[in-house]
Amino acid sequence: MSKKNTKYIFVTGGVTSSLGKGIVSASLGLLLKSRGYKVTIQKLDPYINIDPGTLNPYEHGECYVTEDGAETDLDLGHYERFLNSPTYQNNNVTTGRIYQTVIEKERRGDFLGKTVQVIPHITNEIKRRITILAKEDYDIIITEIGGTVGDIESLPYIESVRQLKWELGENNSMVIHLTLLPFLASSGELKTKPSQHSVRALMESGIMADVLVCRTEHELTKDIRAKLAQFCNVGLENVIECKDMSTIYEVPVYLQKQNFDDVVLKELGLKSDKKADLRDWNTFLKKYKNPKKAVEIALVGKYVSLQDSYKSIAEAFIHAGADLETEVKLRWIYSGDITKENASEIFKGIDGMLIAPGFGDRGIEGKVVAAQFARTHNIPLLGICLGMQIMTIEFARNVLGLSAANSMEFDVSTPEPVISIMEEQKNVIDKGGTMRLGAWKCKLKPGSRLSEIYGTKDISERHRHRYEFNSEYQSAFEKHGMMLSGTNPDTELAETIELKEHPFYIGVQYHPEYKSTVEKPHPLFKALIKAAIKD
Ligand code: GLN
Repeated sequence: MSKKNTKYIFVTGGVTSSLGKGIVSASLGLLLKSRGYKVTIQKLDPYINIDPGTLNPYEHGECYVTEDGAETDLDLGHYERFLNSPTYQNNNVTTGRIYQTVIEKERRGDFLGKTVQVIPHITNEIKRRITILAKEDYDIIITEIGGTVGDIESLPYIESVRQLKWELGENNSMVIHLTLLPFLASSGELKTKPSQHSVRALMESGIMADVLVCRTEHELTKDIRAKLAQFCNVGLENVIECKDMSTIYEVPVYLQKQNFDDVVLKELGLKSDKKADLRDWNTFLKKYKNPKKAVEIALVGKYVSLQDSYKSIAEAFIHAGADLETEVKLRWIYSGDITKENASEIFKGIDGMLIAPGFGDRGIEGKVVAAQFARTHNIPLLGICLGMQIMTIEFARNVLGLSAANSMEFDVSTPEPVISIMEEQKNVIDKGGTMRLGAWKCKLKPGSRLSEIYGTKDISERHRHRYEFNSEYQSAFEKHGMMLSGTNPDTELAETIELKEHPFYIGVQYHPEYKSTVEKPHPLFKALIKAAIKD
């Protein structure tokens, strides 16, 4: 176990879903980190999928991939972007994973003939998954419980929190309850009753909220604060307002103004003389809100009707844009709408393009047209994962003259498989957790555009794909000016392509967006924006 006396913060949600528990948890994590504590954040998801890897992005938004190759909830992306520290598989637990572990143990006979039950077996496994993080010597572990208090599927998690709070003893854990104060326009009032009820629902499960964070469109009056404090059993200073902000990156600053971090440290019996130092964060915010230039980038994808599907990409543009004091306007384009005939209309006035990752054949031909348009009109283009594969297909068809070129993902028996399936993937039947996942090394060719962008030859980036550039076509591509500038040093698999005679035409098999944070904007996104800026 940990050498330290690790403290635990549980974040629950009431009234409705989608209140932003992830952003509040990430903001708190940032504040506590800047007070000198070693913090990590974990998400417990009450659904039965083992992980969100098999979920349609329309269902659940982006699937975020960690260094160790875990396919996780998009909230982990927020944790990394705010804290600038990596998360791992243990930072995301689902009900599916909990049950899988318990059922495997049962099959092995580990329960020695006992009846296996939600309490204690499932709750013990939940508690084990929470406390296991303490092995990494964190001072504070923030655990966000997905869903809304009162949901049937959240019950075992809430019961586990109750048990853990009791086991950990006084001052070692606390519960932050995030709730909504609806505004009734007709009477011009914020209403507290739904929050009172959700706090009561928590109490019925044996848990007292220690701090209330209130999502609201309007400022809380003194009276509202007093009412909430009295009827929800918390101190007046423990009622924290979380007003709608123009950007999620303002939330930590707003919460700090109300001494949120002090309130939390007091509840946990921790002292810190250090004030939260948000100077760098505020510099980022200032640059983000006062851009000197603007560019418009077309984001071509098939899940664009739910922008959360491309969360990390959109955030990476914010980080890189702020760093360059440039507003990045995204023009979201559904690839299924693009044809040769309408491409110039659709892309009129854009300064750059990004072709997004994706799976399946819907909208593919539109993406091929987009890549061709960018190539032939000198528009800076970054293709990510499927985006790079599309650039490969387009180049093979229209430059190498291989009109039948395709990916084996869309046509298994294509005569020109420029994108093919990896040997070890051929016999894989299970869809979940079986792709090439997580951080892999890449060696960049000296003198390549990418080595210049990264400022180094050795990089490591995160992956999530099954198909690869087919190296049999390498020399044909290179002969025509498409350079394979990055390869995996162990397997020689192609990681990057770049076109010599073009202002910026780069495709990467990996996902740079997962590693972009406020503190460390990603060089590739910066380079794309720079290329898009017209002086
Ligand atoms: N569908 C492609 C593959 O599996 C690309 C995946 C992606 O874009 N993440 O290789």
